[in-house]
Amino acid sequence: MLRPGQTIGILGGGQLARMLAVAAAPYGLRCHIYAPEQDSPAFDVVAAHTIADYSDETALARFAEAVDVVTYEFENVPAHTAAFLAARRPVRPDPRALATTQDRLSEKQFLSGLGLPLAPFWEINGLSDLEAALAVSGRPAVLKTRRFGYDGKGQVMIREGDDAAAALAQLGFAPAVLEGFLPFTREVSVVVARGLDGRVTAYDLCENTHKNHILSQTVVPARVGAKATALALQHARTVAAALGYVGVMAVEMFVVGEGGDEHILINEIAPRVHNSGHWTIEGAETSQFAQHIRAVAGWPLGSATRLGQVRMDNLVGVEAEDWLVLLSDPHAHLHLYGKAEARKGRKMGHVTFVTPE
Ligand code: AMP
Repeated sequence: MLRPGQTIGILGGGQLARMLAVAAAPYGLRCHIYAPEQDSPAFDVVAAHTIADYSDETALARFAEAVDVVTYEFENVPAHTAAFLAARRPVRPDPRALATTQDRLSEKQFLSGLGLPLAPFWEINGLSDLEAALAVSGRPAVLKTRRFGYDGKGQVMIREGDDAAAALAQLGFAPAVLEGFLPFTREVSVVVARGLDGRVTAYDLCENTHKNHILSQTVVPARVGAKATALALQHARTVAAALGYVGVMAVEMFVVGEGGDEHILINEIAPRVHNSGHWTIEGAETSQFAQHIRAVAGWPLGSATRLGQVRMDNLVGVEAEDWLVLLSDPHAHLHLYGKAEARKGRKMGHVTFVTPE
């Protein structure tokens, strides 16, 4: 268990690391950020940072010496980086969570092995696999690379009349999975935390809207019936427990059907704090960032109780230029990530509104 004054090492220096470091400060915990990019947004809010590649063992060894526990803000931490650090310091969540979730196929096999519901899927290693799978799945279907997909990158929809070989080419012939198309009514997520003591606590169900495959808005509670909501939360708890997870994670899900016919299907796991949980900073008793810090420090988890009706709007690209307009609403909780350049599709900040119920 960490004591106040000790240091949490965070791999990755984006907005998630930045908000983690801010959340650590009230507990008297320090953060040391390790990231390859010179201008990482998280560097602004910590006393110590390392700029080095994830394969630089000299820098990694020095980083391990300087911290008491290691965590990460992104799921694509290279396996050898995680293993190198885990030999020197506790890495939380355990690198096993990375191994399971970095590969869509192993993630899906893990989930279906737990008996959890998800879209039908097929392993694709070439054109003959794809043609055989499409014959069963029908069209449309979604082809996704097994690795390094995010925000809709690394995936392609195969519709009636589309050429299967062209879809493979579009993904660079990378190992892939084909997923049956789900005519979902809503996209939802559960942000869930598991402590070192095995206690699990879940935030209320989040309903997410995307624009250009990037999260645009989260509202909580999701407009989903009580039965499906309860199942979604239960599924997330099951996943966290089965992974022996320590920290905060998000489980993204689809809702299919309406009314009494609502079903939940799991899409993917993000083994880290998540954009759909940013509302918890002002909208819950303990933010997802504070919760993650408590978990990786080996401390008891805080309450995940929601404080009202919540809406979180992401500020993507030039949307963040409206910061002054947003501030004119005294109830708006504005967060800007300190990124210099508002590139198209870049997450620059978010704004949260909490209306007491
Ligand atoms: P992902 O990268 O898996 O999060 O997928 C990105 C987006 O593509 C999702 O947010 C959905 O809007 C859409 N999508 C992914 N998988 C499916 C599917 N099996 N059926 C329908 N839409 C999907």
